[in-house]
Amino acid sequence: KKVLLSVNQLKQYFPIKGGIFGRTVNHVKAVDDISFDIYQGETLSIVGESGCGKSTTGRAILRLDEPTSGTIQFQEKDLLSLSKKEMRKVRKDLQVIFQDPFASLNPRQTVEQILNEALAIQNVVPKENRKHRIEELLGHVGLRPESMERYPHEFSGGQRQRIGIARALAVEPKLIICDEAVSALDVSIQAQVLNLLKSLQRQFNLTFLFISHDLGVVRHISDRVMVMYLGKVVEIADKKSIFEQPQHPYTRALLSAIPVPNPVQKRERIILTGDVPSPIDPPSGCRFHTRCPFAIDICKSQAPELKISAQNHQVACHIVS
Ligand code: SF4
Ligand code: MG
Repeated sequence: KKVLLSVNQLKQYFPIKGGIFGRTVNHVKAVDDISFDIYQGETLSIVGESGCGKSTTGRAILRLDEPTSGTIQFQEKDLLSLSKKEMRKVRKDLQVIFQDPFASLNPRQTVEQILNEALAIQNVVPKENRKHRIEELLGHVGLRPESMERYPHEFSGGQRQRIGIARALAVEPKLIICDEAVSALDVSIQAQVLNLLKSLQRQFNLTFLFISHDLGVVRHISDRVMVMYLGKVVEIADKKSIFEQPQHPYTRALLSAIPVPNPVQKRERIILTGDVPSPIDPPSGCRFHTRCPFAIDICKSQAPELKISAQNHQVACHIVS
């Protein structure tokens, strides 16, 4: 398997200013030293509760926020050391689809103008061929060519997300980061959009980083799953292992909260108590120890390393060997 993008020791601390001089008094440790690879052609999902750092990780890769430290290797380059200008070029290969396409589609532009703009920014298609290319893009996402003349508000949520997908596809990217891309849609529409993403992935050899809090969606789309808790990666494995043999107590708790596809199958119940602690001052040792029903002494003082527990399976927990 070929690595497409490699994140190493990524930290994203957001300063909190305070006092009369507006000095930095503290930091939100949104992402705190995480490393992982994304393989060419796969869908890697990041799951976890809100505030775990999954969106922050996606934004860091795109450099929508400047990370505090770490490296992000993509095609022999460290994205974090590129100039703004160089990064703009690379952005052709790295596209994003957000939860609410409405917020990212200009309401005063027609679909043609929206897609034309995407094509013009990266100059991927000569001007005279753009109209044809736009028709083709609309076809790829299952919209009729007449859609071109219409405005975003004239479409349903699912259709708007298709426009967002067409815009991401326009520049022939290698990696698409989907941040809660189907979370705002009805369940039946979700399945259609997920199936569309899968078929586009095969057709155009795309790689997806799929950020979602919804394990049903993640089960549908992923090849591998990475679970985050309070800015840390706690488990990463292929989808089957995560869903059938989850190792980390937090993953097990997340899974025990969703309905089982096969009700005959017994499922453990781990009910999490308490809220996610503050990422400003996260718990010592294992960050999950304040909520973990299996915590032992060492968990309070020593942070568990992410280590290999089985083939293609990594877990950060003192009680998993
Ligand atoms: Fe629970 Fe300890 Fe494992 Fe953390 S390291 S998940 S506290 S058992
Ligand atoms: Mg988010």
